[in-house]
Parts: sequence; structure tokens; C-alpha cells
Amino acid sequence: MILPIRTLGDPVLRQPASPVTAFDDGFRHLCDDMIETMYAAPGVGLAGPQVGVSLRVFVFDDGETGPQILANPRLSDGAGDLAEEEGCLSIPGPYHVTPRFATIRVRGTDATGKDVEMLGEGLLARIFQHETDHLDGMLYIDRLDDEGRREVLSELRRIELGLQEPASRRRPQ
Ligand SMILES: [Zn+2]
Repeated sequence: MILPIRTLGDPVLRQPASPVTAFDDGFRHLCDDMIETMYAAPGVGLAGPQVGVSLRVFVFDDGETGPQILANPRLSDGAGDLAEEEGCLSIPGPYHVTPRFATIRVRGTDATGKDVEMLGEGLLARIFQHETDHLDGMLYIDRLDDEGRREVLSELRRIELGLQEPASRRRPQ
């Protein structure tokens, strides 16, 4: 089932999410719906709060990994600098160059509670950081300077008012 995606202004996006404790059928069903919603958007990642579920889980597919689920992710070993255009399904339309680590490790579990560890590089590293931010109530605009944030918000406003076409760039998260 495709779930509605919450957008900027919805308080659930600003709330730190709770750990996943029940890896049951209900949780796996949620993960399936999140994957379906991510592909339909289309996007490369989607976090629980973006569909109104304040749980520490995100799904992703960077185009090479196929559909993946990560629950209770913890980031470590961030290294290098990556500054690429980033967009968010919850801030639909704008993209902005956002500073991130170029490589980062993530540890968590899959939908059954089994331990998972992955080393992300480039796009995958960016997805891990962007989605984990969502679980802490953070958005990519919080990583920008004041000018960058103003640019994104004014572009968002122009798109909402129909004064500007959304750029079709890479898939947002
Ligand atoms: Zn996002």
C-alpha cells in the first residue's frame, strides 16, 4: 500500500523517533509499504517519520543495492567530504548542495531483527546520513547555512505557488 508522505511543517518530521522493539508481522508490513511508497515517489530512501510513523527505521535503494531495510541504525566512522545536490521527499521540489561524509558505516538490523552492517560510499553514504537525520527529527536544510536554507525555502514556495517547475534531477530521499 502506498502511504501518504508527510511534508515540511508536519510535526512528526521534527520528533526524534523511537527504537523498533517489535520485529513482528506488523513491522514487516510497514517496511513493505515504505518500500512501495519509496519506489512510487520515486525516491532512493524513505524514513519512518516521513510516513507518519515515529520509529527508527528507513528503507533505501541506491540503484545497486535493491530494496533494503535498516532498523535502529547507528552511524560510525564517517570520513571524507562529499558535497552533492540533495533533495528530500518531504521538501518536494528543491535540491541543494549539502555537506556530508563521503564514506560512513551503518550498523542496525533488518526487518527480522538480524544484525546488519554496511559501509556506504558516495550516494549510499549520503542516503545513510540523510535517513538517520530523519530519525533524529532533522532535515537536510538544517545542514545548510542560512543562505542555503533561504534558497531552498523560497524555491519550495515558488513551486507550491506554481511559479516554478520542480527540477527533475536525481531522486530525492
Ligand atoms: Zn528526506
